[in-house]
Amino acid sequence: MPFQTTIERPVETEGIGLHTAVHCRLRLVPAPADTGIVFRRVDLDNFEIEAHVHNVARVSYATSLMKKGVLLSTTEHLLAALYSCGLDNVYVELDALELPILDGSSQPFVEMLAQAGVRKLRRRRRYLKVLRPLEVTDGDSGKPGQVRRIGIYPADEFRVRCFVDYPHPCIGRQEVELAVNRQTFSHLLAPARTFGFLKDEAPLRAVGLIRGVSYENAIVLNEDRVLNGPLRFADEFGRHKTLDLIGDLALVGRPVLGEVRAHKAGHALHTQLVTRLLADPTLWTETSSDSAAAARPTRSAAAAAVPLHASE
Ligand SMILES: [Zn+2]
Repeated sequence: MPFQTTIERPVETEGIGLHTAVHCRLRLVPAPADTGIVFRRVDLDNFEIEAHVHNVARVSYATSLMKKGVLLSTTEHLLAALYSCGLDNVYVELDALELPILDGSSQPFVEMLAQAGVRKLRRRRRYLKVLRPLEVTDGDSGKPGQVRRIGIYPADEFRVRCFVDYPHPCIGRQEVELAVNRQTFSHLLAPARTFGFLKDEAPLRAVGLIRGVSYENAIVLNEDRVLNGPLRFADEFGRHKTLDLIGDLALVGRPVLGEVRAHKAGHALHTQLVTRLLADPTLWTETSSDSAAAARPTRSAAAAAVPLHASE
């Protein structure tokens, strides 16, 4: 769609944060063209933090935004839903520093957005169209198994390919590839929940993380199995990492026409890619025409069929 969008009507939800365990009430409100996605801390005089990579604070187990010392944590599951559903302008009002984790997936946010509806605005969208590849690597290149990598490449639509490899009998190597739009995201990625390993629980809690975790908001694994099954997909882990990737790419601040390929990457590499991409305007151009629109009917039919597979 070449025109910008917002939601038709406000919607809200509430729950505790995964890391802080602090209760948060979250409300999505329609916003005018060229606003972007803007968080508003209603507990701090409506202090605004734009969902843009220049506000990224700390990226370890979740993506956090920070502006003038005001922190906002675990933004990626909501941003993945907003971005994939094609919503350009929304105010996200919240009364605490961390978004509610809900069931650990983006599904509840997608359901909220279905209730909220879409309103087309009169202003045209400004896509960021990738012209030249950009790659960011992390790790020891002498040990190929250790390398983490992410790249973005020219494409006529927004596509992602995400590879994960965890030495665990329930996970192993999983690869997810798809053209991202409201339909593919809702059906193939949104229900995939966050996950964690029992052995990491004590060290993470010791540094103030995952205080809100429970069997209701994360898949928990011990050495050899899932403790709170069943899984929603055999490759739910790879799908969730793909969702996280999209949530971080949303920090570009506008729709991307390009393909992102992530190889064992994480929040830190995702946000580095976005920062480096925006810092080098020779890598992309701004366009108001959605060049893939003409080809989209056939492409989305193919995407809905089998865009996705687990490699092992
Ligand atoms: Zn996540």
